[in-house]
Amino acid sequence: MTFKAKKRFIAGAVCPRCGAIDKLVMYKEDGKEFRECVSCGFHDEMRFKQNPRELDTRVNVTEEQVKEETQILILDPNANNSEH
Ligand SMILES: [Zn+2]
Repeated sequence: MTFKAKKRFIAGAVCPRCGAIDKLVMYKEDGKEFRECVSCGFHDEMRFKQNPRELDTRVNVTEEQVKEETQILILDPNANNSEH
């Protein structure tokens, strides 16, 4: 084995470069997590921001998010430059 890091396939992941499905592996190096496409060689650092909202979305934050977006639309109907 030449790999010192464990590489695990990410089920259902799509390579952003070549579009291959189930070709992405993830591995840890220097405390960071990377993903790599075994098909085209694409690799990238996986940034897991601490974003509990995203994790909670499927449970009960959806309503709150909708409300938030609605408020933004109502308050700033012309503000199209707020990408978040
Ligand atoms: Zn690829």
